[in-house]
Parts: sequence; C-alpha cells; structure tokens
Amino acid sequence: MVSRVIPVDPFDLVVFGGTGDLARRKIMPALFRRCAAGQIPDGARIIGVARHGHDAESYRALIAESLRGEGADPCHLEGFLRRLEYQSLDATRSEGWDGLGIGMGQGVRAFYFSVSPDLFGALAERLHAHGLVTPEARIVVEKPFGHDLESARALNRVLAAHFREDQIYRIDHYLGKETVQNLMAVRFGNMLFEPLWNSQYVDHIQITVAESVGVGARGAYYDHAGAMRDMMQNHLMQLLCLIAMEPPAKFDPDAVRDEKLKVIRALDAVKPHHIVRGQYADGEGCGYRAEVGDPRTTTETYVALRAHISNWRWAGTPFYLRTGKRLVARSSVINVMFKDAPHSIFGEEAGRHANVLSIRLQPNEGITLKVTIKEPGPGGMRLVDVPLDMSFAKALGPENQNPPDAYERLIMDVIRGNQTLFMRGDEVEAAWAWTDPIIAGWQARGDVPKPYECGSTGPGDAELLMKRDGRRWQGINP
Ligand code: NAD
Repeated sequence: MVSRVIPVDPFDLVVFGGTGDLARRKIMPALFRRCAAGQIPDGARIIGVARHGHDAESYRALIAESLRGEGADPCHLEGFLRRLEYQSLDATRSEGWDGLGIGMGQGVRAFYFSVSPDLFGALAERLHAHGLVTPEARIVVEKPFGHDLESARALNRVLAAHFREDQIYRIDHYLGKETVQNLMAVRFGNMLFEPLWNSQYVDHIQITVAESVGVGARGAYYDHAGAMRDMMQNHLMQLLCLIAMEPPAKFDPDAVRDEKLKVIRALDAVKPHHIVRGQYADGEGCGYRAEVGDPRTTTETYVALRAHISNWRWAGTPFYLRTGKRLVARSSVINVMFKDAPHSIFGEEAGRHANVLSIRLQPNEGITLKVTIKEPGPGGMRLVDVPLDMSFAKALGPENQNPPDAYERLIMDVIRGNQTLFMRGDEVEAAWAWTDPIIAGWQARGDVPKPYECGSTGPGDAELLMKRDGRRWQGINP
C-alpha cells in the first residue's frame, strides 16, 4: 500500500531561528523529505532567518550538512537547497524586516517561531508592524507555550493582538505522530472499541512516556522547567485528551479541540499522595545534579501521577501517567487495561486474564491487543495471553515501515491550513490551570524529588502508587 502525496500550492515559509538546533535537526529534514516526496511545488520558498551573518550559499551549506544523515539523493538535495534562502535579522531590532517581504507572493506565508519563547511577542509585533501579516499569514509557535497559566495567558494576548486564532499554530509534535492520529482512527473508525471505551469495561489506563537519555545540552532550560512542565502539561496531557475525549461530531479542528478541552476541564485536582516526583540520582557516569551543575537542584526529571476525569464516561477509571528521563528504555506507550471477565468458567487454576490494548507511539509504532486463548496441547484448559499484533509495517507493507516524522505532517498541515493537530489557546490555558496547583503544592511543601537510578523504571514510590490500588505498571520495553 503506497501512501498518496498531494502537492500543496506554492508558499513562503520563514523559519525564525533557521540556524538553531530544532531547525537543523527537525524542521529542515522534515521539509527536505516532503520535497523529495514531491509535495513541495516549484515556486515555494523557504527562508531561514537568524542573527548570524550567513548568505544564501553558506546557509545552504549549513543545511546540507544537517541533511547528511538523510542519505539524500544528490538530485533531491539539489532541488531542496535551491528553494532555501537566508536573511540575517535580529528579532529585537527594527532593521531588516522590509527585506523579508521582498519576493513574497500573495499565497500562504507561514512564519515558524523556532526561537527562544522570550522572542515570540517581539516577532509577532514586528511582523505586524512591517506589514507582513496578510490574511493568508500564519505563525507556528514552538513549545514551551508559557511557564504557567499567567505567562501562557500573556503570550496568548500578545499573539491575539496581531493574529486571529485560526492563524496561530501551537505545535505539540506528539500530535503529529502517526500512531497518535491512528488512536483517533482506531477509536472512531471501528465499532469494536467504542462501546467498551468507558469505566464499565476499562479498569484503568496507563500512559508512559519514557526516555533513556538525560537532559543533555538542554540542562539550563530544563532545570527551570522539570518533567511536569516539559512533558506532562503538554505531551501526556494531549495523549490523555485523545484517549478520553468524546467522539467529535466531525474531524474538524474546532470540533476535536472542543472535545479535548472538555476532558482537561473535567480533570480533578491531583491529590498530593497521588503524585510521585523523582530525579535521576548521582551515580557512576550519570546524575542530574552533576549534569546541570547544581548540587542542590530539586527539579524533577520524573513524574508519575493518578488522574481522575469527572464525567459520565470515566468516573471510577483512574488514568496513571508517568514520564521520566534516563529510564530503562525509550518507550512511549498507552495501555488501555480492560477489566477481568466477570466470571471465569475455567475455574481458579486458569488464572485471571484481562485484555490490554497497547498503543505504541515510539519506537516501533503500532497497536497490539492482548487476548486470551487456550494454550495449545492436551491436558486440560490452560489459558495464555497472546498479542494480536497490528504493527503498521507488517500490516501495511514495508514501504510504511518508517512513517513520516511528526514534523513533516505538522508543517504540511500548517501550509494546508489545518489546525486539527495543533493546540488552541484555551486548551493550553486549561492544561496550565490543572498543572499550576501541583507545582505550587511542591513549592509550598518544599518537596524534594525521590532519587532513582539511571537505567531503572523510576522511583520505587511510583510502583507503590499502583500497588496501593492493587495494580501494577506494564513494563517499559524498547
Ligand atoms: P537554538 O538556541 O539552537 O537556536 C535558536 C535560534 O534562534 C538560532 O538560529 C539563533 O540565531 C536564533 N536567534 C536567537 N536570538 C535571535 C534574535 N534576537 N533574532 C533572530 N534570531 C535569533 O534553539 P533551538 O533548540 O533550536 O530551539 C528553538 C525553539 O524551539 C525554542 O523555543 C525551544 O524551546 C523550542 N524547542 C526546541 C526543541 C529542540 O529539540 N531543540 C524541541 C522542542 C522545542
């Protein structure tokens, strides 16, 4: 099964921060792959903007270097680099802006804010002041979107002063992952699951986003954020919304986002004993405090919590969410844990068996359903759990083994003007409104995160969080 590529109309895409880490590692490779796939038409322009004094040639060389790992066909590479232009500009100053508009068409123009969040407001204001905001203009805003509710509101206000909400694309790259979109297809495209998707049949849901790496070069930023702000408030919250939301009337941006917002607003405040905070401990060759150079920092690199959604569908079904760095494996999985069959006709010795629907976001994107069958062979009725494997590569053919990167999908959605997979301003604010009291509680109590070993599954208290409820986490497997 070969996926169809639908070319878009010519556009101008300005990448502010075009020399930065995100632009070189994610944005440009994504654009290159879409270009190689034939989706980017002649006449489309990609303009990198940064403070550095590059010219078009040296900028193309810089990006060509970032694309080395792509195993790029020289012909495709040449075609992509030809579309690249460069403009040196300081977002905090007034000079250079008029030059940016030269050569821009009347069609779609997208401005990607891949710079420090401190500059988002200045960029919005200057784009407007220099007449670059046309009706077809749109902006893409990277995370973090604010540090708390107040700063997110302030940022929403600044952006709203110059752009309509339908021109603002707040990116959460988790929403661009193929399996995350598949989650909606599985839920709302099949009769099979939806009738069971409620507290009557679902015992609980586990959402795990585990990373095996530490903070790396992001230490300075991360130490002011922590896992709660960096991961829980956005990525895990978005996954929770997609799992828990009611079916929208149609797959349209506001219909989907209205339903997600209802989920966030129905979340109860998290009780202090339903949350575990951890920090990877100083050990041999590994340790958060040493990595960020602060022996006393109490920033969490791990959070596990139990959330409750107070609505008819989910009352009584807990959602356990956990995320952390330097864990045993890189693995993002949602496990929908169904209840045991109400009565076992096979007797005590057959054991207890429950279905588990696992949606793996990374690595090895795919979906498995654990079902109970008879163990083969004579000698009575012994039951065994086996996975019904819906790995996309197996089901859809080898050409789908490497689904498009989230950034490929999301950037093309910006160009097409489809906001379904982007966060709306009120959604972000609601997520902060739920997160802020948790962080404020830690600060008020002087909470110190529990240490955990690098390469482990996190602090022991996270296991207790489950054990107290008679449940256990599924393994974190690569
Ligand atoms: P970076 O520090 O590597 O790059 C910053 C870019 O901004 C550079 O091109 C720099 O020249 C440019 N810049 C800085 N000040 C400027 C100014 N006054 N005017 C014009 N350009 C200016 O940062 P990054 O890692 O690429 O991150 C960019 C944004 O993306 C940040 O908001 C970050 O939080 C977000 N983000 C990054 C990652 C990642 O993996 N790097 C992941 C998620 C979100």
